[in-house]
Amino acid sequence: MTATQPAVAGWFTTGPDPALLGSRCTTCASTYFPPVPAQGAFCRNPACDGEELEAVELSRRGTVWSYTDARYQPPPPYLARTEPHEPFALAAVTLPEGVTVLGQVADGYGVADLRVGAEVELVVEPLDDSLLVWRWKPVTELGEEADQ
Ligand SMILES: [Zn+2]
Repeated sequence: MTATQPAVAGWFTTGPDPALLGSRCTTCASTYFPPVPAQGAFCRNPACDGEELEAVELSRRGTVWSYTDARYQPPPPYLARTEPHEPFALAAVTLPEGVTVLGQVADGYGVADLRVGAEVELVVEPLDDSLLVWRWKPVTELGEEADQ
């Protein structure tokens, strides 16, 4: 079976150029992720009384704000990817919109491939046999290719 369903509906697109889906205040342009429900929406900026938020696709690239690796198997409801548990990396990434979004790092990459301030790109990969999830993939500049 091939994973086709987003793990969380409405939080990201799954096309060839996937993107996180956020909400932007039409008054002050503050941007939020996860997206704010349209009903009863209000801007969380205390200096803004905006009540209209529009759906936006967020930038596909951002910079690493911080990162770590998950040494212990997360408890339910999180899905265990491997048995026994293998550590995987997590990155908090700041997008140009000013939003910082946590996510796993793309398959094949670990903490050794990350550094604060480095550029990463959003990808969508299988979480298990049926679900897709967004991940952060390090962007390697030409000439900066690691020893491969
Ligand atoms: Zn606002």
